[in-house]
Amino acid sequence: MARFIYNRETCAYEPYKVRGKALRNRIILLLSISLILASGGYITFLNKSKPLDLLEIERENTNLKTAWLLLNFQLEENENKLKAYAEEDDHNYRVILDATPLSNTERQAGVGGVIRKTKEMEHYPLISTIFDKALHLNNQLTVQNESFDELQKLLDKKLKQWASRPAIQPIDNKDLVRLHTTYGMRLNPVLKIWTPHKGLDFTASTGTPIYATGDGVVQDAYYSDSFGNVVYIDHGFDFETRYAHMLRFIVNKGEKIKRGQVIGYVGDTGRSAGEHLHYEVLYQGSQINPINFFQRDLNNKEYKKLLELAKTENSSLDY
Ligand SMILES: [Zn+2]
Repeated sequence: MARFIYNRETCAYEPYKVRGKALRNRIILLLSISLILASGGYITFLNKSKPLDLLEIERENTNLKTAWLLLNFQLEENENKLKAYAEEDDHNYRVILDATPLSNTERQAGVGGVIRKTKEMEHYPLISTIFDKALHLNNQLTVQNESFDELQKLLDKKLKQWASRPAIQPIDNKDLVRLHTTYGMRLNPVLKIWTPHKGLDFTASTGTPIYATGDGVVQDAYYSDSFGNVVYIDHGFDFETRYAHMLRFIVNKGEKIKRGQVIGYVGDTGRSAGEHLHYEVLYQGSQINPINFFQRDLNNKEYKKLLELAKTENSSLDY
């Protein structure tokens, strides 16, 4: 918009024109304002474009390297822990469970992580190395995990096998009068001839409890002319036991039995020449010497006494 100024000489308003010094001052003022505005714009521009700052990058790099070292250290710690598990697995658990240690090839063959390395990672050796290390650890963990699963199954089977094994005496030591007849040749008390005796005779008072010597299933419980009241237990894993001449039995065919469970009482039934238990252990259908299974519940002194008792008498109570 045009400006007017009052002229005293002409007594009229005339258009105002800037000239000389005023004009120069006005130009300087305009230039200054322009410069200030331009500088502000430039600063804003600089702030928005985030220029590369080498110091900042170096600092960032150092921080990343430190983080990498810590990550690497953590991975190595985990690798060492896993190695300790593998050692325990091979030299401890597998020895106890009669299992072959895993070969190096088996241990290295694990396939683990679903995350794959990207091509870009190959450009950064440190990242690439640590990724490989983590993947290897993942694979090793998979192998170890599978191995522990296998060991757990083996252990369950072994525990069942150990519980099933005829491993205790069928008559408590406090009730045992004597181990009348050993396993082997013995003199028949009626026929007076030497015949093989395929079990052990435990002399004990009538009514003394008879214990199942391992977990199993009652295969048969009945009265026979020779064995009298007799119980047959199938322990699985090719083992069976027989308990003869009982006063009575208190289990039925097909019943599940636990080791130490009372299955009947000492008597004198069948072809028996006195109150006693005739006890047999069979492995794969043939009688074996039961005395080899008693170590578990006898101390050395008791076991020695049992062997001595067994040596002194070799006539038989069953005929
Ligand atoms: Zn006998």
